[in-house]
Amino acid sequence: MENIIVAKFGGSSLADAHQFEKVKNIVENNPERKYIVPSAPGKRHGKDYKITDLLYLCNTHIQQGIPFDDVFNIISERYKEIVQELSRRCDRMQDLDIEHYLTTIKNAISEGASSDYTASRGEYLNGVILSTLLGYEFIDPADMILFDEHGCLDSEATQKSAQERLSKVEKAVIPGFYGSQCEGQCEKHIKTFSRGGSDITGAIVARAVNASLYENWTDVSGFLMADPRIVTSPRPIKTITYRELRELSYMGATVLHDESVFPVREAGIPINIKNTNLPQDPGTLIVSDDKSTNTFGTITGIAGKKDFTVITIEKNLMNNELGFCRKLLSILETNGVVFESMPAGIDSVSLVIADSQIKNKLEDIIHEIKRQCNPDSIEVLPNMALVATVGQGMSQSKGIAAKVFDALGQNNVNIRMINQGSSEINIIVGVENNDFEKAIRSIYEVFM
Ligand code: ASP
Repeated sequence: MENIIVAKFGGSSLADAHQFEKVKNIVENNPERKYIVPSAPGKRHGKDYKITDLLYLCNTHIQQGIPFDDVFNIISERYKEIVQELSRRCDRMQDLDIEHYLTTIKNAISEGASSDYTASRGEYLNGVILSTLLGYEFIDPADMILFDEHGCLDSEATQKSAQERLSKVEKAVIPGFYGSQCEGQCEKHIKTFSRGGSDITGAIVARAVNASLYENWTDVSGFLMADPRIVTSPRPIKTITYRELRELSYMGATVLHDESVFPVREAGIPINIKNTNLPQDPGTLIVSDDKSTNTFGTITGIAGKKDFTVITIEKNLMNNELGFCRKLLSILETNGVVFESMPAGIDSVSLVIADSQIKNKLEDIIHEIKRQCNPDSIEVLPNMALVATVGQGMSQSKGIAAKVFDALGQNNVNIRMINQGSSEINIIVGVENNDFEKAIRSIYEVFM
């Protein structure tokens, strides 16, 4: 069976004509790259604007009755410059009338187009340009990526129509970030994913064409074992499983849009995170859980998040009391509070809750716990951070936890809480916010 690669290029990979040239070279370098998903132009440098942000701004101007011409001009100039520069080296580009597209979009916005429509035009225009540059067919995702009446992706309908549509084309460019939604009498209108959603489009396309690989091209050479702002030059992660990735990104390490993982994970399609500026770098390969290359006793990465409150409740013979945890959790539910984890001992249980969740509700919650659960004691630890050490290789291997705790002890980091998920691919420790960076550095160093 022939190999098909779906390649998604992020905003920084398509920020100007020079970046478009790099993308063209990458695509042409491997004939298996048949379906290409572009984002909108991103920032060219630190102080630059992302086109998507500018498009949203046009919409806000319109809603407030302020002229949006100046903002739209910045957008137009950016696209015109890209097309003009590319036309010098590619004849096909000379036939592209980008002014015509820009005028149509500007008219639609001034006539009150929705903010989803407006924002989606960044990807749409990049799709038009890239398909012309590559000589690939342009496919509008509005015809195949379908949202239901609640605004959620209709995965089944999308898979069916994308499969059908894409099977008819050998090579195509499909803009990321949007699809369409039917409402009422099924009048179709443009609907976008949440920000960063082109990753999801790429994954949907990869599943629909049953790709052998989903490449996600960005401006970094994959995931690093720890946050480079905390650890100096952390090692890149060569291979990571979907489960490990889920744990790490849940704990704050993000390169990919969370939801983008599900369609390809289900289909067992690996994802390769690659760097458009250093295409020779291997990047990070995300593989099925049973394809881990992680050897016993090693870890894959370390991530963490600050600003949690831990409420520890103690009660003698708690383990014999029917419904104790149900009461606790229903107190959180009544207050609309989501908890992060709930490590438990025999006569104690802790609730780990993000500060953003608990905001002004802490006093009410404590009051209710006292009233309904009648505990022996309640301790509240504010300003806590969670640090997760993740690695499939740690399950069934001895000594990993000892190494983590030893590293923290040696570096004078006080561990306030320990939690190892039953999946045994992570060890989470709770430390004080002030010790967060030191904890990550100590764990990294002991394993490296
Ligand atoms: N352009 C959109 C955004 O900035 C989607 C994407 O880049 O994936 O969020």
